[in-house]
Amino acid sequence: MNKIEHIGIAVKSLKNSNELFNKLFGKPHYKIEEVKSEGVNTSFFQVGENKIELLEATKNDSPIAKFIEKKGEGIHHIAFDVDDIVAEIERLKSEGFIVLNEKPKKGADNKLVAFLHPKSSNGVLIELCQEIK
Ligand code: ZN
Repeated sequence: MNKIEHIGIAVKSLKNSNELFNKLFGKPHYKIEEVKSEGVNTSFFQVGENKIELLEATKNDSPIAKFIEKKGEGIHHIAFDVDDIVAEIERLKSEGFIVLNEKPKKGADNKLVAFLHPKSSNGVLIELCQEIK
C-alpha cells in the first residue's frame, strides 16, 4: 500500500459543502463526477499533495444516504493508493480482512476501487484505489 490517496467525507449537499470547503481551503474543487453505480455525486479538492473527496447521495438507498442517516455527515472513508489492486485484495483477504467487492470496480477520478468492510478494520471504511492507465 502506498500513500493515502484521498479522504472521503459524506455530505448532505454537495453544493453547500463545495462552498464551505472552498472557504476552508481557499480554493475551489477541481472536478465534480457522478458515480452512478454507487449512487453518489463527488467533488474533489486538491490540498497540497492531498485530495479530499466530498460525497453526496443521489438516491435514498445509496450507501452515503445510509451512512448519513446513521452517523450524520463526516469522514466516510480513507483511500489508499495501490499499485496492483487485484494482488492487494488477495493479500488482504489472506490476512483476514473482509473485502466488500472482490472484483475491483470503476470509481471516481479514473480509479479502480475496492472497499474493506469497516468491521474488519476497527470501524474504518478503507478504500483501495489503483489509477487506471
Ligand atoms: Zn473515495
